[in-house]
Amino acid sequence: MIAATKVKIVPGRLLIDGQWVEGSKKFETINPATGDVLTEVAEASAADVDRAVAAARRAFEDRNGAWRKMSASERGRLIWRLADLVENNLEELAELETLDNGKPIFESRYVDIPMTVDVLRYYAGWTTKIHGETVNTFENAFTYTMREPVGVVGLIVPWNFPLLLASWKLGPALACGTTVILKPAEQTPLTTLRFGELAIEAGLPAGVLNIVTGGAETGKAIVRHGGIDKIAFTGSTAVGKEIMRGAADTLKRVTLELGGKSPNIVFADSDLDSAVKGAINGIFYGKGECCNAGSRLFVERKVHDEFLEKLVARAKKLQPADPLDPKTKLGAIVSQEQMQNVLGYIEAGKKEGAKLVAGGNRASVDGSKGFFVEPTIFSGVTNDMKIAQEEIFGPVLAALAFDDVDEVIELANRNPYGLAAAVWTRDISKANIVAKRLRAGLVWINTYGLMDAAVPFGGFKSSGFGRELGMHAIEHYTELKSVWLNMG
Ligand code: NAD
Repeated sequence: MIAATKVKIVPGRLLIDGQWVEGSKKFETINPATGDVLTEVAEASAADVDRAVAAARRAFEDRNGAWRKMSASERGRLIWRLADLVENNLEELAELETLDNGKPIFESRYVDIPMTVDVLRYYAGWTTKIHGETVNTFENAFTYTMREPVGVVGLIVPWNFPLLLASWKLGPALACGTTVILKPAEQTPLTTLRFGELAIEAGLPAGVLNIVTGGAETGKAIVRHGGIDKIAFTGSTAVGKEIMRGAADTLKRVTLELGGKSPNIVFADSDLDSAVKGAINGIFYGKGECCNAGSRLFVERKVHDEFLEKLVARAKKLQPADPLDPKTKLGAIVSQEQMQNVLGYIEAGKKEGAKLVAGGNRASVDGSKGFFVEPTIFSGVTNDMKIAQEEIFGPVLAALAFDDVDEVIELANRNPYGLAAAVWTRDISKANIVAKRLRAGLVWINTYGLMDAAVPFGGFKSSGFGRELGMHAIEHYTELKSVWLNMG
């Protein structure tokens, strides 16, 4: 039996101007491990978004208001307090994340929520380090620059790492002194709503953080709203393009973290057992619903068969199970719709002539109606197949063989995406040559998926632009102003 939860789940409301308010419509959020409704959540209409923007604008512009009067150091302490509250409520937030998303509880408990805390603390430290510069110009001039908060920001988040990806945006947004309209994905709003309560408890002034739950229509209302200065979006490339078009009329600043089809390249001279573990982790962590999933595996032909044998043996041990069980390593796909997409790609792989060497089916866990898919591996894939070109966003790996460095770089780069990549070899020069030639925003050498709040994250090509995490994110939430003083 799928475990029952002790966490209290209440119907979700909208957070506008420091108050919880009902929306005119509601939608259901589902537990993907059971198919059961968890609760109902308010759907923000365009009028609700308008109210949220008005509140954020007031909080941003009121020079005598609590937010504007707060010093950088006080703002840092407030963000730190928020991190403490997330940490103090880690168990509850982890369980909510697992219930709403289907991810194994070990991921929520040891990665999603702890990293959310880290990210908030990292940006709490940044509040006091946002500097301008003095610039040498003319003898009679004093010239300096300053960084000012960009204004009201609209943060639109996907369902795969709901609270964590919200923190990647909220951390720098609050550190820079912007005010926020935050929209979680309609599939996974629950941890963001609980976070809203913690923000009130931490003492965030009214209007600084507004949470509007809903789907694409709510997102569109944010994107076209004239009172918002910047959109930070994480999600699919198709929606990213729509957002860029939608933001053009009001000339909003836009940063986009989009999809990926990341190559994981294994050379014959690597530590093969570590590379097998890296390949498994690269594709099956987060059920493969990771933008940086290593979903294209390139194995040097000399070791291809030996490597695949080890890989398949390991994948077959990894069966989907109850996400709330601490031993579970593969949870439920986030929704029925996403499960159907994933199964559709598996059918496409078979039709195109790839060889199915592991998995390939929907799985049943304890007789539940949940949305589980077996860990799936195709070998004999060619680079032009749909399963090698398109993002599947599920536990499906496409394995390809290669003979030399030039060939694998050409194949790896011949894809619209450019988010992440990995290379496995004991030859440090080769590793760095490959890292340099790959068109990707981040490259791991002899590891897969390591992250830190201080290290920039983001893509090349159709994986978007702008960077989250690290100091570069600060640039995206500020405007740079130059000031000239004529000293006579
Ligand atoms: P999605 O693009 O369908 O939705 C993302 C968010 O945008 C949701 O909150 C959704 O409600 C909202 N939205 C949908 N249509 C909209 C519109 N027209 N205007 C404004 N908002 C709209 O993506 P998803 O299915 O939730 O997430 C999966 C995608 O996210 C994958 O492609 C994945 O690669 C990508 N992703 C990227 C990163 C990264 O950092 N690069 C991280 C996680 C996920």
